[in-house]
Amino acid sequence: MMSTTQACVKPAHQTTSPTEPSRFARLGSSRWVDALGGDNMPYSKELMESRNALHIGKRFSRLVISKFHHRDGRGMAFYLCVCDCGNKIVTRLSGLKDGHAKSCGCLQKEKVSNVMRSHGFSCGSSQFVEEYHAWIAMKARCYNEKCKSYSGYGGRGISICERWRESVGNFISDMGKKPGPDYSIDRINNDGNYEPDNCRWTTMKVQSNNRRKRRNV
Ligand SMILES: [Zn+2]
Repeated sequence: MMSTTQACVKPAHQTTSPTEPSRFARLGSSRWVDALGGDNMPYSKELMESRNALHIGKRFSRLVISKFHHRDGRGMAFYLCVCDCGNKIVTRLSGLKDGHAKSCGCLQKEKVSNVMRSHGFSCGSSQFVEEYHAWIAMKARCYNEKCKSYSGYGGRGISICERWRESVGNFISDMGKKPGPDYSIDRINNDGNYEPDNCRWTTMKVQSNNRRKRRNV
């Protein structure tokens, strides 16, 4: 026999008459109400709404809670927040409370561009974030023993030329902008170092093809 899931089917006693406004409709989605126990939910609609309203106007770093947005299937509350920069985001209340959500993302971008500036590379806000992250990851692979790829890089003697090691600006001006999201740094000679003559941006597909060719030689 085929078994069908009953999760989305409301029991008959939860249906409301046409004259009575459905609380499921009022709350937007019935999914989270059901997740919290349907009719057995210990909180009334009014109590839930007043609980939701409690957080309006609270500030968490750059974010100020503007209004309740929704609850997900697990009952997690999401709020619409306005960032100091003017952007609006919908984020989890628990993320705000535990300090994970501090801004719409602008804070992280500023940190990156500040670090880039401190490396003598100033070229607009976050234009080179991808390349900066590639540079950070490359340094970790070669010099951070805690990096999980270290054994295949620094661990077997692969290093970064001094020009790149000291300046993300040098790295970006030699490598240029990453052509697309699928691209990463490819060392042409797999045993060679990270240096201008041995590196290019390629896709993972090209890199694994090259590795296969090299193995077959
Ligand atoms: Zn922002």
